[in-house]
Amino acid sequence: MKNPLFGKTLNELTELVLELGFPKFAGKQIAEWLYKKEVSLIDEMTNLSKKNREVLSENHEVGLIGFTKVQESIDGTKKYLFPTIHGKFIETAMIPDRDRKTVCVSSQVGCKMGCLFCMTGKQGFQGQLTAGEIVNQIRSINEFREVSNIVYMGMGEPFDNLDEVLKSLEILTSEWGYAMSPRRITVSTIGIVPAMLKFLETSEAHLAVSLHTPFDDERRKLMPVQMVYSIEEVVNEIRSWEFGRQRRVSFEYIVFKGLNDTPRHVRELARLLNQLKCRINLIRFHPIPGTPLEGTDEQTLQNFKELLNEKGILTTIRASRGQDIYAACGLLSTKELVK
Ligand code: SF4
Repeated sequence: MKNPLFGKTLNELTELVLELGFPKFAGKQIAEWLYKKEVSLIDEMTNLSKKNREVLSENHEVGLIGFTKVQESIDGTKKYLFPTIHGKFIETAMIPDRDRKTVCVSSQVGCKMGCLFCMTGKQGFQGQLTAGEIVNQIRSINEFREVSNIVYMGMGEPFDNLDEVLKSLEILTSEWGYAMSPRRITVSTIGIVPAMLKFLETSEAHLAVSLHTPFDDERRKLMPVQMVYSIEEVVNEIRSWEFGRQRRVSFEYIVFKGLNDTPRHVRELARLLNQLKCRINLIRFHPIPGTPLEGTDEQTLQNFKELLNEKGILTTIRASRGQDIYAACGLLSTKELVK
């Protein structure tokens, strides 16, 4: 298999062309062909000489990867299944909403973080994705040209694959790449503190933290990461970070019946997030096989939201999308893996 060019940054392309004996500016030309002119073959890079295209093709190819399956929900949400370079499968969701089309990308194959409520976690860790495989999930879906927002909330923990995630963000937001505003991109984490700090320093994209309960003992059971980086520590780090006016931090909170949906949780959340400029997104739980967890009922969910809002924490309930197509992340690829 040849080395893919797609997914390389401008610096990497420049290094490559210098190694091959091309002029330095050929790096920029190739970046433009890959990310602006959207070619899928080296031979289409017509401002490189024929000789140089041949040299480049000896060991390289553009390397786009097509999806192998797509499912569409009655609400328009689509779930794409992509093969990886190493013969595994990852999922990408496209969620249309009024004038927006949001793509939810995966950052790893499976995941090693073992969150109790997560189907991807149940698959275990099967490998990292390259920056090219991450950006390809946007480039190779049918709605590519209409994508307005990107969230890193698919399979895997983005900050457990930080270098490739940062590289993918560079490609998406650089002038020589897709030139997207980082304000249209959100990266979600369970709270791996050192990687989170590096991300905050390096990128301008929004941050979302999976919170799910403010109590240490409960969070340890739901999310083993709590044993290493407590939510208190994560929030303290965020508190001391200077977020610009435009940059957002939000907290994701899946609401489980009888587990994290009580007034006691509201009070502790209010203490934890006191005076922090942020938002909580409440998420309905989509049941997954083999877990005793249940989603909370609609009335309790609404009450929980109102109580949080009364405490001064801006709280919204995320609309459930694509439930009829296994939109809970990890279900489709697990089925494919079992096959
Ligand atoms: S919720 Fe995220 S971090 Fe936790 S197991 Fe699932 S993919 Fe991994």
